[in-house]
Amino acid sequence: MIVYDNHTVDSRLQARWGFASVVLLPGPSILFDTGGGQPHPSPQHAHPWHRSGRDRYRRDLAHPRRLRNSIGSRSLGCETCDVPRRIAERVYTTGEMENAPREQALVVEMGDGLVVITGCAHPGILSIVRRVKSMRTDADVSLVMGGFHLLSASAEQLEGTTDHLQELGLRRVAPSHCSGDACRDVMRRMYGEDCLVVGAGSVIPLPD
Ligand SMILES: [Zn+2]
Repeated sequence: MIVYDNHTVDSRLQARWGFASVVLLPGPSILFDTGGGQPHPSPQHAHPWHRSGRDRYRRDLAHPRRLRNSIGSRSLGCETCDVPRRIAERVYTTGEMENAPREQALVVEMGDGLVVITGCAHPGILSIVRRVKSMRTDADVSLVMGGFHLLSASAEQLEGTTDHLQELGLRRVAPSHCSGDACRDVMRRMYGEDCLVVGAGSVIPLPD
């Protein structure tokens, strides 16, 4: 479920710059990224719209090390994920990927393949998908959703990126947050119904 996004599909919800999603699983649920709302122990990188809107926490969260200290001072558990690893049953992280700012994506293993959730995709959406495929050579990537960071991409770049995603075997896309309207248009054209139009309030069923 997307709970915070630049777009909304529910008239009761406001669109705001940022992204956050809740992954409801049989075990513990996972909040991935924080939009511009309250702080959470695992914002996936440190831009203001991916952490607390409150100044006090903005200072705390402005750097991953300060974030860890901030979490530690509140007696909350904090584990860092520098490399790909399993973090719960059927749930993995790509680990922090090299780029500024460093960022990780969430991977959920479902019956029909891997679902990848990105916050802002600063390492590049293609790099993230390639990372996931290198982590799990035995499974297809069935869906990538979240921010694709293609706001300033040209039409040619958008078509090229979509081509590459299709070549990588990615079956469905759900671009939101910093993907941009042009990206959503191009992917809708190239993916058809397999490009999901999503925003805050979207509930995307994940097959078992
Ligand atoms: Zn972005």
